[in-house]
Amino acid sequence: MARIGFIGLGNMGAPMARNLLRAGHAVRVFDVFPERIGRLVAEGAEAADSPAEAVAEAEFAITMLPSGREVRAVYGGPGGLIETAVPGTLLIDCSTIDVATAREMAALAREAGLGMIDAPVSGGVGGAEAATLTFMVGGPEEEVERARPILSAMGKAVVRAGEAGAGQAAKICNNMILGISMIAVCEAFVLAERFGLDHQALFDIAAKSSGQCWSLTSYCPVPGPVPSSPANRDYAPGFTAQMMLKDLDLAASAAEATGARVELGAHAAELYRRFVASGGASTDFSGIIRMIRGE
Ligand code: NAD
Repeated sequence: MARIGFIGLGNMGAPMARNLLRAGHAVRVFDVFPERIGRLVAEGAEAADSPAEAVAEAEFAITMLPSGREVRAVYGGPGGLIETAVPGTLLIDCSTIDVATAREMAALAREAGLGMIDAPVSGGVGGAEAATLTFMVGGPEEEVERARPILSAMGKAVVRAGEAGAGQAAKICNNMILGISMIAVCEAFVLAERFGLDHQALFDIAAKSSGQCWSLTSYCPVPGPVPSSPANRDYAPGFTAQMMLKDLDLAASAAEATGARVELGAHAAELYRRFVASGGASTDFSGIIRMIRGE
C-alpha cells in the first residue's frame, strides 16, 4: 500500500483515483470543485483542502489537470507541490501538456530534491474506468520503475519514451493521429449517410477492413455500433473538443518549433477551432460529426 496525493478529479482523474483506492492504496484527493472531492471520499479517499495538504506525507503525488497552465499553478509558486512536498516524493503528472512546461517542472522538482516524471495517458474515460490506460512516460529510468506499480493499478501498459518531456512528446504525436482519424471517420459516416448506407453496415465492414482504427471501433462517432461511445449519450464527454483543440495546438506549435510538416494536423486543428467557436467546446470531440454533417 502506498500513500498517494491525487489532484484533479475530472472525467479522467476521478476514475483513476478510484482504481488506486480499489488497489488498496491510501489516497488523499483535491480538486477546485468540492463536490468532486466528496464523491471520492464516499468511496474511501481522504479529503484535502489544498494541493499542499493532498501531498503532505505522500510517497507519490499525481496530477490530472486540464493543461500546462493549471500544472504550473499547482506545481509552482507559494504553496505549490515543488515548495511543499517532502523530499523523496515522486511527482507524476498525467495531464497532457506542452513539452517545455514538463521539462521545466521536472528541473525545478529535481532542484527541490523531488523526483518527477511526465506520464500522460491514452485510452479515454472508458480506459480510465476499466484501468486499461496506456501511460507514456518521460523521466529517469529508476523513477519510472518506482512509479510502475502505481501506474499499473490504473492502466494496462506503461511505456518509457525517454527523458523528461518524452512522454508528452509521444502523447502529442498520438493525439494528432487521433484528431485526424476522428475527422476521417466522421467524414466517412456523413458520406455513407448521403449514399443511404446504414451506419451499422459501414461499421461492420470498415471495422474489418483497412479503415479500421480506434476512432471507429472504440469511439464510434454515430450512435449504435459501439454502445459505450459518447455518440450514444448525445456527445456528453468523454474528451471535450476544447481538450482536443488544445492537443492539436500543442502539435502545431511543436511542428513549427521543429520544422516538421504536419498539414493534416494543422487542418484538423482549424476544424476543431471552428467547432469550438460554434459552441462545441464542452461537447465530446466526436461531436464534430454534427458540424461535418452541416447541422
Ligand atoms: P477535466 O476538465 O474533466 O478534469 C480536470 C480537473 O482538474 C477538473 O475536475 C478541474 O476542476 C480540476 N482542476 C483544474 N484546475 C485545478 C487546480 N488548480 N487545482 C485542482 N484541480 C484543478 O479534464 P479530463 O478530461 O479529466 O482531462 C485531464 C487531462 O487528461 C487533460 O490534460 C486531457 O488532455 C488529458 N486526457 C483526457 C482524456 C479524456 O478522454 N478525457 C484522455 C487522455 C488524456
